[in-house]
Amino acid sequence: MIVDDILSKATKEKRHVLTEIEAKQILAEAGINCTDTRLATNKDAAVALSEEIGYPVVLKISSVDITHKSDAGGVKVNLSDKTAVEKAYDDIMASCTAKFPNADIEGISVQGMAQAGTEVIIGMTQDPSFGPVLMFGLGGIFVEVLKDVAFRIVPLDKNDASDMIHEIKGKKLLEGYRGQDPADIPFLEAMLLKLSELVDKTEGIAEIDMNPVFAYKQGAVVVDARIILETSY
Ligand code: ADP
Ligand code: MG
Repeated sequence: MIVDDILSKATKEKRHVLTEIEAKQILAEAGINCTDTRLATNKDAAVALSEEIGYPVVLKISSVDITHKSDAGGVKVNLSDKTAVEKAYDDIMASCTAKFPNADIEGISVQGMAQAGTEVIIGMTQDPSFGPVLMFGLGGIFVEVLKDVAFRIVPLDKNDASDMIHEIKGKKLLEGYRGQDPADIPFLEAMLLKLSELVDKTEGIAEIDMNPVFAYKQGAVVVDARIILETSY
């Protein structure tokens, strides 16, 4: 099992945080659709991976010490050729090493540029009395400013998943507002149930953050993921 391998490697290394690549591997194994995200440890490898994945691509810093990647200048999106990838690689490295001189940087991750969709966020936190709890909300200002989110205790049943999505105030945005495509709500419900199942059967995870998830008329994809471990070291 990928999840066991990743968790035991992280524990051996006395880490609190998984990389985006590791987090997406765990989520993908649980059946959750994520952008295929791979590690490049040098510029040539980043170009080779970009060509394999297909342009346009996104490059991101891969470091357990940099969890808010954009704030560090560690994310470059919509790169459409080799020159753009090479420049992005250098710019990301320069910015991140300047902002975090002591960070342990394993390389730069490469993934396909996902088509824009309705941004939602899905997360898990541990509540001291209820145990693991899942969260669903609309991305951006809806969660940051308006705190428009719904919570349910793990394990979720089908009705919980559906109720969570339907109780947020911004639900209209998911139903196709002013010409925007509606979001595939059954697909999002299935994502919540798969996450609940993963969390229910896995020990040692303190927090999961899928932010953002792009929701489409058909399907949805996780473009960024973070997992924090429950650790005693
Ligand atoms: P951060 O660590 O700052 O949260 P993210 O990985 O979320 O970094 O990237 C920042 C933003 O870049 C995202 O909110 C999203 O809008 C965009 N983005 C990230 N990955 C992709 C992708 N694969 N396709 C399209 N847009 C992306
Ligand atoms: Mg993010």
